[in-house]
Amino acid sequence: MVRRRLIAGNWKMNGTQAALGEVTEIARAADAHPGVDVALCLPATLIGRAVEAAGGLMIGGQDVHASPNGAHTGCISAAMLIDAGASLTIVGHSERRHDQHESDADVRAKAQAALAEGLHVILCVGESDDVRSSGAAVAHVVDQLDASLPDDPSRLSIAYEPIWAIGTGKVAGVADIAEMHAALRERLVATYGEAGQGMRILYGGSVKASNAVEIFAVPDVDGALVGGASLTAADFVPIIEAAVG
Ligand code: PEP
Repeated sequence: MVRRRLIAGNWKMNGTQAALGEVTEIARAADAHPGVDVALCLPATLIGRAVEAAGGLMIGGQDVHASPNGAHTGCISAAMLIDAGASLTIVGHSERRHDQHESDADVRAKAQAALAEGLHVILCVGESDDVRSSGAAVAHVVDQLDASLPDDPSRLSIAYEPIWAIGTGKVAGVADIAEMHAALRERLVATYGEAGQGMRILYGGSVKASNAVEIFAVPDVDGALVGGASLTAADFVPIIEAAVG
């Protein structure tokens, strides 16, 4: 099955309005390559202005609360993201699972809320260095997926992000990526039937222009979630170009 590739940037806690020029330049590259979906998941403070600057680019958040509103200081709801102009959000990034102690059940509730409001969702799963060393990576990540998946697979993508590869410059080997993505595909099909074949599974973890072509050639890799190399057009645009093939 042919799936459109998605290249999504995650700016994490980086970027002020001085960085909007990068958004504009990335949007220009996205417009030039209509065969690939391109998204930037930005700090909430930049979403509105980036939507104005971004043309056809999808602009998203990096997290969402499971509740529609209420006493949750510092949090943002799916309706607020949409109100700001966002069309997608990340949920379950390993930094939030670690720093904010988010469980699989929390991640599932966030995904449910975001999808119900009409957002696209990138749901992250991935194993630690210790789990990888123990030989249990596939079982661990499949369990995490099972416990995090929402009911509705439409507008849902999965990102496999080995925690030890995020921001470290280390990249999973292509055989390990292939093994994990095949296992995730099997679970998505077992859970959602035919719809699971159409869902995108992204790889994330130190993706750069220099390794993107090799990673995109792996079966069942349908794009990338990119942190550090998404902060500038100079680094991110070549990854978009690599996804065009
Ligand atoms: C990420 O934060 O999702 C990520 C993959 O970061 P990096 O590309 O910097 O490893």
